[in-house]
Amino acid sequence: MPVPKKRRSKSKKRMKTARWKIVVPNLRPCPECNALGRPHFVCSVCGFYKGRPVILTSSASNNAPSNDLAASE
Ligand SMILES: [Zn+2]
Repeated sequence: MPVPKKRRSKSKKRMKTARWKIVVPNLRPCPECNALGRPHFVCSVCGFYKGRPVILTSSASNNAPSNDLAASE
């Protein structure tokens, strides 16, 4: 296991942590349910991706019964 050769000084440690920032994630409204979610990810509320149901959620089974999944199963 690699071990640092020298102890990092207080100044260097503080200079490093001064660059740490909170990153606000990009959010976009879901085209199906308008809930905010990350782009290029399956919607966690309705389970839709690219207009198709990908994962079965309780709201998806209630609101939009999936013909694609029913045909494949
Ligand atoms: Zn959605």
